[in-house]
Amino acid sequence: MRIAVVGTGYVGLVTGACLAARGHRVTCVDRKTEIVAAINQRQAPLYEPVLPGLLKEVVASGRLTATTSLREAVLGSDVSIAAVGTPLKQGKIDLTFIEETAAEIGAVLREKDGYHLVCIKSTVVPGTTDTLVKDTLKAASGKEPGEFGLAMNPEFLREGRAVEDFLHPDRIVIGADDDRSFARMRKVYAGLFDAPILRVNLRTAEMIKYATNALLATLISFSNEMASLCEAAGGIDALEVLEAVTRDKRFYPPEGREPVKPEITGYLQAGCGFGGSCFPKDVKALISFGREKGHLPRLLPSTLRVNREQPLRLLGRLERELGTLAGRKIAILGLTFKPGTDDVRESPGIAIIRQLLQKGARVCGVDPCGIKNMQKVIPEAGNVHYTRDPQLALEEADAAILVTAWPGFLEIPPEDYARAMRNPLVVDGRRVLDKESLEKAGCRYLGVGLA
Ligand code: NAD
Repeated sequence: MRIAVVGTGYVGLVTGACLAARGHRVTCVDRKTEIVAAINQRQAPLYEPVLPGLLKEVVASGRLTATTSLREAVLGSDVSIAAVGTPLKQGKIDLTFIEETAAEIGAVLREKDGYHLVCIKSTVVPGTTDTLVKDTLKAASGKEPGEFGLAMNPEFLREGRAVEDFLHPDRIVIGADDDRSFARMRKVYAGLFDAPILRVNLRTAEMIKYATNALLATLISFSNEMASLCEAAGGIDALEVLEAVTRDKRFYPPEGREPVKPEITGYLQAGCGFGGSCFPKDVKALISFGREKGHLPRLLPSTLRVNREQPLRLLGRLERELGTLAGRKIAILGLTFKPGTDDVRESPGIAIIRQLLQKGARVCGVDPCGIKNMQKVIPEAGNVHYTRDPQLALEEADAAILVTAWPGFLEIPPEDYARAMRNPLVVDGRRVLDKESLEKAGCRYLGVGLA
């Protein structure tokens, strides 16, 4: 099939590259000329493992091209997939990019003969596709639904594992209110991806994405709440508690002789909170959606509150250990919201660095991929520096806080902390470091969920 993907950020680019790898002819559209130029030069404009090789292959084969001309892309395709951003504005989802995209596609459909399917892949609140998108398409195209198709296909990929997730989905949700739209969207995936296709209506497809992210975010906040209770009680290690909780066979079904550890248990771990472009934004959007519809969620605001307080609780413990943070040098291990990405959006590292600076500390942040993006949020200045070299950050530091569990940080020998730091205090914000060997090397260890 010929597919136009509109919006070539994380989701759009991975979608385009993977659909092209499965044999479709894909045109990626973005307003940003630098993104389009990079793709056509076979270079990934963002950091995502596996993507560079895949992109080279599909661009070289001619199965994927990029353009700034939405018109050209839509005229030459059977399906348009919108993967533009849906940010938050004043606590609510901002559908400006979606509305603009629908208007632009609609204007092209006015001059295009034949049936064309418009699919929304962006995360949008329930009711967006069958009202705003449909009405905008109708007005801009002068056509009625049926002359064009409408589908909603939420995306579940995780940054850092996006290509693997896209090529090997666990389920493909297709929202469609009519058979023809469903049939065309099904053709995008059927036979190419080995996963069940779940057909639902447009609104249900939209809600499935929010319910998924709300559940995962709530599991993380639940774990952090348990961790705080363990800290308050003393003498209880949240790591052991949560490990035992997830050993329940309802989480952990034994398969053959060796039990298989389900990935969901990765969300039942104590840490310094969730971040990224989706969980915080989507939970907030869902709360405001609920409020508008007359149901104020009770649980979800608490999920956000626990998450907001989590990094600050960690700093509170650090401050009590050091007496004061003023004038202290603190090494921050990890700037991205999780390993395997260059994305720092809503990273707990941002709240941690801001609070440290406010308290008069000096910060040296280390990250293998996230420095460029973090500099746009908290620019390098007198009291804040960034480096890719953990040794430089640890030099003469009064404490080191592990914020992101990049594999490279797990390999730092405990002796290096003890040797380089003025005061070898290691704060494990992800509970991935070996307390015993750090203490043996002469460090003090402070871990989330352990007091
Ligand atoms: P992004 O901000 O990285 O990319 C969006 C792109 O759309 C940008 O490059 C922008 O220039 C482009 N754009 C905006 N309006 C346009 C228009 N009218 N024409 C052409 N290009 C336009 O966003 P993202 O992280 O890829 O997310 C896209 C959507 O997918 C969001 O709704 C998000 O919530 C959802 N989502 C994201 C992820 C993720 O991990 N990032 C996962 C699942 C779903």
